[in-house]
Amino acid sequence: MLLSHTSVSRVAALQCSHCQKVYSSSQLATFSPCCQKPLWATYDYSAPLSPSLLATRPHTLWRYREMLPVFDDQHIVSLGEGGTPLLPLQKWASLYGYKQLILKDESNNPTGSFKARGLSMAISKAKEFGVESCIIPTAGNAGGAMAAYCARAGIKATVVMPRHTPQVFKDECELYGAELVLVDGLINDCGKKVAEMKGKAPYFDVSTMKEPYRLEGKKTMGYEIAEQLNWQLPDVILYPAGGGTGLIGIWKAFFELKALGWIAKDAQLPRMYAVQAENCCPVVKTWENTQPNASQYQGKASLANGLAVPQPFAETLMLEVMRESGGCPIAVSDADMVAAVKEIARTEGLLIAPEGAALFVALQQLTTTQQIQRSENILLLNTGSGYKYLENLIS
Ligand SMILES: *Cc1c(COP(=O)(O)O)cnc(C)c1O
Ligand SMILES: [Zn+2]
Repeated sequence: MLLSHTSVSRVAALQCSHCQKVYSSSQLATFSPCCQKPLWATYDYSAPLSPSLLATRPHTLWRYREMLPVFDDQHIVSLGEGGTPLLPLQKWASLYGYKQLILKDESNNPTGSFKARGLSMAISKAKEFGVESCIIPTAGNAGGAMAAYCARAGIKATVVMPRHTPQVFKDECELYGAELVLVDGLINDCGKKVAEMKGKAPYFDVSTMKEPYRLEGKKTMGYEIAEQLNWQLPDVILYPAGGGTGLIGIWKAFFELKALGWIAKDAQLPRMYAVQAENCCPVVKTWENTQPNASQYQGKASLANGLAVPQPFAETLMLEVMRESGGCPIAVSDADMVAAVKEIARTEGLLIAPEGAALFVALQQLTTTQQIQRSENILLLNTGSGYKYLENLIS
């Protein structure tokens, strides 16, 4: 189906993230046929756009409507995603001597994680193109989010998840009416199962970074961070990276904000740190040159299941973000994550996901090695709710 649009969306085209080849955004797309790399959306900046537009709009990610790829408002599939708070962590910060520490708390999103942002956008676009059946390999949260948005959109959902994933992640998919397929192994093994199933039926594959619009949903975290800080970016951002959509999306947002003139063209951008689990840290290994890339990396399961992504499709882009920004990847242990979940719950009253807790451990390590100074403005992203992990936290 070929669509044209007359809406307020300023989406211009899709572009290969590797060779810059341009593709039409008027048809359903996956990844780039030229280089087998992620595609991303480009926008038209020829007409000025003022941030004063935002003043009267609701606090969901849809407030950045012009910079989102959905052509027609009637295809928007929304459950109120985005608009998450920035919370100062004064108690924990003063305990350890940090001057300015803030948490962007994504646990308030529909289905309890920031996956809602990406899936709201991807499923809205799928609906716009008339897709009837979506499939996703997931470590947990993405499957639940896709199931919810597909239910809302009236699209059939199939979720392929590791068998060892905690029960709540499976239950939510079934409650949202998705078909659930369990696989022995990690998300890359689920990806193989998806490839096999696609050979037999017309599923649209919504895998991380193999579909262009989850990135557009996740980039809105970058818009929100900038807007909520009155267009002054922090010095440092820590992000728990699995497939890397949030890391790449936030970085993309900063360049779009410069192109829009909403932040200064010469503004210093934050150093971006990708935090991984010791059990599964392919990006750390490539960064340390112990492997050429992650394509052969074998990971183990982590309590932070969102981080158990052994062979991320967008690895190169993640490495570029860290190289360009002056950050680096770092790994932390499951045991340290659990301790940090409990410490943050006790000190700040926030029950964060182990993925988010990993950032606190990483921050302490990065200040010990002087890569981050305690005097800097530091922003952490808690990507999910700890409530979905309770069965593994209390034992
Ligand atoms: C998926 C997930 C991540 C990792 O996100 P990517 O976009 O794959 O890097 C981090 N935290 C939680 C809670 C997740 O569900
Ligand atoms: Zn290309």
